[in-house]
Amino acid sequence: MIVEGRLVDAHFGPRWGQVQIVDGHITRIGDLGLKPDLKLGENQLVFPGFVDVHTHLRQGDEYKEDFHTASAAALNGGVTSLLDMPNNPIPPVTKAMLAGKEAAVAELPVDIGFYVGLGPDTRPSGHRHYKAFMGPSIGNLFFHGDEDLEETVRHYRDCRITLHCEDPEMLRQLADQPSHEQTRPEEAERLAVTTALRLARKHGFRVHVAHLSQTDSLPELEAAAQEFWPDDAGLPGVVWEATPHHLFFDWDNRQVAQRNTFLKMNPPLRSSASRAKLLEAFLAGRIHFLSTDHAPHTIEEKSTKNPSGVPLLDTYGAFGSWLMQQGLSARALARHACYLPGLFTGRKVGRLLPGYRGHLAVLDWDQPWTVRAEDCRTKCAWSPFEGVTFPARVSHTVASGRLFQKGQEVT
Ligand SMILES: [Zn+2]
Repeated sequence: MIVEGRLVDAHFGPRWGQVQIVDGHITRIGDLGLKPDLKLGENQLVFPGFVDVHTHLRQGDEYKEDFHTASAAALNGGVTSLLDMPNNPIPPVTKAMLAGKEAAVAELPVDIGFYVGLGPDTRPSGHRHYKAFMGPSIGNLFFHGDEDLEETVRHYRDCRITLHCEDPEMLRQLADQPSHEQTRPEEAERLAVTTALRLARKHGFRVHVAHLSQTDSLPELEAAAQEFWPDDAGLPGVVWEATPHHLFFDWDNRQVAQRNTFLKMNPPLRSSASRAKLLEAFLAGRIHFLSTDHAPHTIEEKSTKNPSGVPLLDTYGAFGSWLMQQGLSARALARHACYLPGLFTGRKVGRLLPGYRGHLAVLDWDQPWTVRAEDCRTKCAWSPFEGVTFPARVSHTVASGRLFQKGQEVT
């Protein structure tokens, strides 16, 4: 397959050229002079496929999502590589427990990797991705306090642990507060980040802070990123991510979403001032990954019990175009949505270079997109961005050398 258009990578472009993909991998790139199978226009940008390192694909709760619908939602959003969190009804806590999951995704065009969970009494199992919830969230895998957590993480020297940072003690004290936002304030996240870095220093593990929702922790995180040993991929020993919902919505503007009562997640939305600072930090390159925390629940569930979490895979690329409209360069988007999260996965993804996976995502600036539920491929069939207009949309996704439009294969 030969694709021709304006190519963007974290380290070059946008620049007109061709990409050749053979047997699912990029073999050549440049002014190849070949006859293209897909020739794109001046207003389309060709990125390496987007890489989302924080998703909940719901194995065991297939009425919300399954690997096939998640894969279609990802392709619809230009996402070609993702990592799935372990908070399933039967959480995987050893590498061996992932065998069934790995078999279930082996034939999918999207690369799907997995986290194993940390819980009381777990031990390292030679896996690359571990996830720990510091306090109560969705599912059973969490610790009851810092001592509990320390008793487990002290065994994970040199491992990378992804941490959901909200201080469990503070959450317990605030459990009776009237609003979801008041039960989980920014201070709970700041405290938990400090605890995570203290434990990481003491026990020698690397940290990935999930869904950072405030910026007061940045100086502390940035100092630690300089201090800790980088990992084998060259990523700093401490990295962190931000989500589309924390970058876009806040207490004041949430009404722009048609389903604004569904905007409940952990950590919750923050004030407009906090959101502005988070966006400023992202645009300044101070946050490593754009990660969705894609967490589907059905419309019925969100209308009644309203469990925390929102689905975001379908809108990943379009949200990236919104970030570009806010001032992010195309190369910076490739850095934070492809290259850096690609390093984190440990796979050859996130670059337009020979030897990398044959994944591409095309953002089309001739197609502004007002998001509608019927445009989404996630099984839960809604989006927090319904009613929001993005300046561009993912027109084509190439995954492992196969072409997709709107989540469906073009043959
Ligand atoms: Zn999550």
